[in-house]
Amino acid sequence: MIKVPLGYTVAATGFPTTPPVEEKLTKTYHFYADDVHDFAWAASPNFLYVEEKFSAPGVPGVKIKLYLDPLHKELKSRYFQAAKKALTRYSEWYGEYPYSTLSIVVPPNGGNGAGGMEYPTLITGWAASSAQPSLELERVIVHEIGHQWWYGMAASNEFEEAWLDEGFTSYAEDKVMEREYGQLPSLAIEATYVTHPVALSTFSWKFGPNGRYADNVYTRGKLVLSAIEQQIGKEKMDRVLKVYFQRYKFKHPNTKNFQSVLEGVTKQSWSGFFEAYVYGGMMSDYAVEGIKTHETKSPDGKAAYESDVLIRKLGGPWPSVPVRFHFSDGTVKDSVWDSESGDMLYKLVHTAPVNWVQVDPLHTLVLESRQINNYMKTDVDLKWGLRLSVGLQKLIETLISGLAW
Ligand SMILES: [Zn+2]
Repeated sequence: MIKVPLGYTVAATGFPTTPPVEEKLTKTYHFYADDVHDFAWAASPNFLYVEEKFSAPGVPGVKIKLYLDPLHKELKSRYFQAAKKALTRYSEWYGEYPYSTLSIVVPPNGGNGAGGMEYPTLITGWAASSAQPSLELERVIVHEIGHQWWYGMAASNEFEEAWLDEGFTSYAEDKVMEREYGQLPSLAIEATYVTHPVALSTFSWKFGPNGRYADNVYTRGKLVLSAIEQQIGKEKMDRVLKVYFQRYKFKHPNTKNFQSVLEGVTKQSWSGFFEAYVYGGMMSDYAVEGIKTHETKSPDGKAAYESDVLIRKLGGPWPSVPVRFHFSDGTVKDSVWDSESGDMLYKLVHTAPVNWVQVDPLHTLVLESRQINNYMKTDVDLKWGLRLSVGLQKLIETLISGLAW
């Protein structure tokens, strides 16, 4: 039961069981909701109220209730469209939206303290500060609706394992924004924002200063899921998330439950990956440590150069790190290195010396946080001798074949 001054409109979790009862100065609402673990409401004398009914496969029938700020009165259809696209995709990908209502509250200008929040069957958009907002309007709606699946229905512990909520929601949000609005995420760039990686299993209040909570829980959490997707492919990743949601909705799953679903679907152990990136605070970080070239002879006795290239593993493991070697005659050689086995020394024999080396030349490694050390030109290496003496875990020899000697 919520009692407000007569001129106010109330938005709340669930649906009204009776029409509001008006008295002289007050109005009384009764709301009810099944299968929710929280409740929220908002009241304002200024809400412009609009509703639309919607159904789709996986959305049996929902009344979308929009409580709009007057500044956005021309933008109704953008809110409804974003909500319908999000409901449709998340239901298709993860599982049904079982509730009969979804309320969207738009706070007034200056009200972002209450903006971009999720509660069961009620979300808030970004505060209305411009009559022509960017696509951030849609992105916030898509994100908050995503929470209905992870915070709302899966209902993992959002304080103790926040990444299972915000990381998953941010990952899902990117997928809808890409699919429905053509906005591609810049994962490689986002990875560079994570300057202080912390274990994702850290309690929310223990992440430390300067945005480390957000950088890890939202960005790194999302990147970890993207990294898993990169290794197993989109189709299998969709399967993992669907099985996880279906198996654990309304059951408060934890990180171990997610890992066990991932291991079940992919039929492989992920313990090394989880130790580094989830239970540990690692990012990937691979560096071109040094290049050294000297004259030699090719196997058939012709003049050639041997270029020794040392690649260091400074962060977590990745099974296939792309490395590109560029020779002074323009020849390019690509290799893939399994970083799980540690550092790598490449020995390359060719008619010309290597003149630059780049790890991850196409920026495909979504957990690679320090790209500054991914590239090296031969003539800038002054410390090779010193660095080479640092113990090598692995040595490999590669002869370039198929080239004209
Ligand atoms: Zn969120």
